[in-house]
Amino acid sequence: MEKLSNPQVTIDTIKKYGFDFQKKYGQNFLVDAHVLNKIMDAAELTPEDCVLEIGPGFGTMTQYLAERAGKVLAVEIDDSLIPILNETLQEYENVKIIHGDILKLDIQRLIINENAGMPVKVVANLPYYITTPIIMGLLEQNIPISSITVMVQKEVADRMQSGPGSKDYGALSLAIQYYSMPYIVANVPPNCFIPRPTVGSCVIRLTRYDTPPVSVQDEKLMFKLIRASFNQRRKTLVNGIGNAAEVPYTKEDAVSALKTMGLSPTVRGETLTLEQFAELSDILADFVTETVR
Ligand code: SAM
Repeated sequence: MEKLSNPQVTIDTIKKYGFDFQKKYGQNFLVDAHVLNKIMDAAELTPEDCVLEIGPGFGTMTQYLAERAGKVLAVEIDDSLIPILNETLQEYENVKIIHGDILKLDIQRLIINENAGMPVKVVANLPYYITTPIIMGLLEQNIPISSITVMVQKEVADRMQSGPGSKDYGALSLAIQYYSMPYIVANVPPNCFIPRPTVGSCVIRLTRYDTPPVSVQDEKLMFKLIRASFNQRRKTLVNGIGNAAEVPYTKEDAVSALKTMGLSPTVRGETLTLEQFAELSDILADFVTETVR
């Protein structure tokens, strides 16, 4: 049977099942064999890998994954896609279709039950409305995932891989870069999808670090400080921290910590590196211990 990456096969499948695209599920199906092969190459799949695919849709990418990986776990939320997937993937014995919401699923348990000790890689054309919660959930939980190769909105990919000084740099860049090394694989134009998205898309690969590139005493505190610093983008870091309800520090604490780091009290969050946020966090953590707040 001809693959779904042939646009005509996808069009025939839409007609055959009378499939209605659901905007609320971010359904834009990929119909470009060249892009799919690029994603497969970037994910560096081998028969020893188990792949977690989020949102298989009609199973277009799943067909490519099944040919390269040892096993594919495909999690789809839309009821109406399950019978279609059962047909389009029937010849692939190494695919397991899971009907559910990726944000509610116990992914840790799923992987332990299904990966048979194989390394796990995430590969997906993600639903754009929940890209960040999906990726952050995968990185923050202690799930044995070695890499995440995904199609995302171009603007989100830019934010993930930006550094200090860039307009795209922010809390998402720092969180992604604490857990993984991002690499933009390809830009993908809207005409590679049915229906066409209104935004540009990008394939990004995140290679997970075994240990984060900076060490910090209290990871949670560092991320609270990062969020506080970027909450009010045009304000100074001192004001951001002093005004944030989620951190127990005054503006004076922030000024004093910045002084210890040799930084000006008027510095803005978007100029600090991940290493500097870790240092700031460690200095402020010691303040709490000393003053027993
Ligand atoms: N992988 C297919 C492709 O490339 O042609 C479809 C990708 S489409 C951008 C996103 C897919 O994610 C849709 O099939 C959608 O129904 C599914 N989806 C949306 N929200 C989901 C959720 N919370 N959990 C699991 N799947 C979801």
